[in-house]
Amino acid sequence: MKWIYDLSLNELKNEIKALGLRDFMVVQVFQWIYQKNCRDIKLWSNISKYNRELFIKKYNITLNRLINKEEDREGTKKFLIELEDKNKIESVLIKEKNYYTFCISSQVGCAIKCAFCATGKMGFIRNLSSGEILSQILILKKEIDDYKGKINIVFMGMGEPLLNYENLKKALSIITSEKGAKIPSNNITVSTAGVLKYIKQIEMDFPNIKISFSLNASDNKAREQLMPISKMENLSDILDHFKNHKRKHRITFEYVLIKNINDSIEDAKKVSQLLRGILCKINLIPYNENTNIDFKTPSKKNIEAFKEYLCLNGYTVVLRWSKGKDIKSACGQLATQTKDI
Ligand code: SAH
Repeated sequence: MKWIYDLSLNELKNEIKALGLRDFMVVQVFQWIYQKNCRDIKLWSNISKYNRELFIKKYNITLNRLINKEEDREGTKKFLIELEDKNKIESVLIKEKNYYTFCISSQVGCAIKCAFCATGKMGFIRNLSSGEILSQILILKKEIDDYKGKINIVFMGMGEPLLNYENLKKALSIITSEKGAKIPSNNITVSTAGVLKYIKQIEMDFPNIKISFSLNASDNKAREQLMPISKMENLSDILDHFKNHKRKHRITFEYVLIKNINDSIEDAKKVSQLLRGILCKINLIPYNENTNIDFKTPSKKNIEAFKEYLCLNGYTVVLRWSKGKDIKSACGQLATQTKDI
């Protein structure tokens, strides 16, 4: 039996002809599963009982299994999801004032191994399929069933989305399609440690999707210490690209502020010079501490001073205190395999 979430609209259309079903039925099925989030086929009222039963014999429509849910005081919820092969991933539902944010994983573990991140400590296990990416969104959507307002999707969960580009692309096509989940591209952010080839690719394939680049250091040398990917993907090449490539949305630079590592005014000065000429926004994220990782959150005073310096130099700066820290669901705290983190 094939898992429906791994199939694109066209793949499914091509397949169901062999069952003697009309391809229009695929559009109806997509509406039931991606828009109405309904997997009770008895309710698929615009499809005949005979066709529904024929279809369900061939295709598995069950989502991945939700095995645990934790909620913090502010309503941030962390979902532990078990995949078919028993690997586990986490997704986070964040309640904001006027909308919800879904923080979605793209891989089991992560190959990038940033020194400060809990997911990096798990190592890389495997890429998620497009269906496993979509399944997270549908599980989180189920949680807010009657809600009809704005949903933002951020690929800031476990993994490096641009190192799983083909599956990410397939999932994004269904997420944004009018026939799929109908979530506008403008509401989607892909966060990357920086893989230039795929930054260019996603800008071509989805020009309206927002890109966040995890900068986290004030020069390439310091960045190499924190983010080994910087040894392969040169920071100045990436920044040159951001400077020269015209895009719909400003680039967001994420900068995790870590005590005595990258939080000095000297660092702020260097960041300010580094990003000069790039139309951007800077998100400062005070470090979320992890047991077994030695980094600390800077003092409020230093964080404010860092922010102030960049603001005074003309940058748009958002200080983002992560939500969900008490359930370990904040940025860089997701890990499902290493017990002691
Ligand atoms: N691999 C992607 C997406 C996952 S991490 C990326 O690197 O962008 C999402 C964001 O959380 C990144 O900006 C990352 O730098 C940040 N982050 C990682 N660990 C963190 C921690 N312990 N505290 C705060 N932010 C962290």
